[in-house]
Amino acid sequence: MLAEAESRWLDANAEALDADGALAPEVVPRLAAAGLFRLGVPKALGGLGGDVRDAVEAIAEVAGHSLAAAFTFWGQRAFIEYLLQSPNQGLRERWLDALLDGSQAGATGLSNAMKFLGGIESLQITATPEGDDWRLDGTVPWCTNLRPQGFAAAVAVQRTGGGAPLVAVLKAGQPGVERSADLDLIALRGSNTASLRIEGARLEAADVIHEEANRFLPAVRPDFLGLQCGLSIGLARAALDTAAQRGGAGRSVLDAPIAAQREALASVVDGLYQGLADGRFRTRPEALFRARLALADIAQAAVQLELQASGGRGYHRDQPLTFARRWREAAFIPIVTPSVTQLQGELAKRAAQQSAATP
Ligand SMILES: Cc1cc2nc3c(=O)[nH]c(=O)nc-3n(C[C@H](O)[C@H](O)[C@H](O)COP(=O)(O)OP(=O)(O)OC[C@H]3O[C@@H](n4cnc5c(N)ncnc54)[C@H](O)[C@@H]3O)c2cc1C
Repeated sequence: MLAEAESRWLDANAEALDADGALAPEVVPRLAAAGLFRLGVPKALGGLGGDVRDAVEAIAEVAGHSLAAAFTFWGQRAFIEYLLQSPNQGLRERWLDALLDGSQAGATGLSNAMKFLGGIESLQITATPEGDDWRLDGTVPWCTNLRPQGFAAAVAVQRTGGGAPLVAVLKAGQPGVERSADLDLIALRGSNTASLRIEGARLEAADVIHEEANRFLPAVRPDFLGLQCGLSIGLARAALDTAAQRGGAGRSVLDAPIAAQREALASVVDGLYQGLADGRFRTRPEALFRARLALADIAQAAVQLELQASGGRGYHRDQPLTFARRWREAAFIPIVTPSVTQLQGELAKRAAQQSAATP
């Protein structure tokens, strides 16, 4: 999927993409040039056809080289998915080509909305009617792929007068939308991750992705989460490959656990792809939540195996090893929304509801 030149560029610059933002401007154009944003997008709309599983595999492939690049990819591709599933054809027509060719960045500030959907927090942006439009106020505390060169970000907003929340697009340079400096993160620093302050920004109906967040979010959640699973899949595969390469004499004791994690990974990926293909996660998301939790565990175990196979060399900064970066990258997996804690809580809640409903 990734051309040799792009793989080499990502490998050569993975540390830099993790450590600072100097190369961040190159990521979206490079991924676009490789055609990656077109995977799983209908040919009639300028894509390469296939389905969302092709995009998940591509995110996994990039994640095996650099999680900063892969998460940027996720932001762009998830935004593209929102447009594909939006009833607002005009919005799609205005943005899609530029997102597919990488001349525009797409970002998803929907963690807050996903937590809202799970009953964890309230929406952090309000929409007050002003004539035919709305006035927006609030914050997006985290958002990746906010390219200073330009971006469109999806957010969910609460109508002050009541009614279903909206999912809408905010644009760079729009009056009332202010991007912070990049957040001071411990890793993934080349991902253009910042916050947004929204004060009196105008929202027109033309920029509404969906009028009812409560209907739209559960519908896009399988793809939102499925694409995110690509991060764990790619990280785990790469760490297990490195662990296997560093195995051998004296470390054969690691062969069995490496093989066991590979087998578990293949089986979870298989179930994930079946569920994404047949649409069952739309009405029964529990299996998707469990897949995401299992992948998070496998990614952590894989990085530990890479450490154990690398031994003390993995602790050196002056060795060309990948462990320390993967360890920091892996720390992102449990906290990205929906977080491991959130999903465990959600599954416990659903199990309790089910047992209460069973006579
Ligand atoms: C590098 C990076 C990039 C990011 N990019 C984006 C992005 O592009 N878009 C975006 O929207 N967000 C993004 N985020 C935010 C991310 O997805 C999470 O929302 C954020 O890390 C959650 O942390 P928090 O501090 O808000 O969690 P808190 O709300 O402080 O909660 C702490 C933990 O407890 C869990 N929790 C809280 N309440 C409950 C409950 N009632 N039941 C069960 N569990 C609960 C949370 O899920 C979390 O795991 C990014 C974060 C990072 C680190």
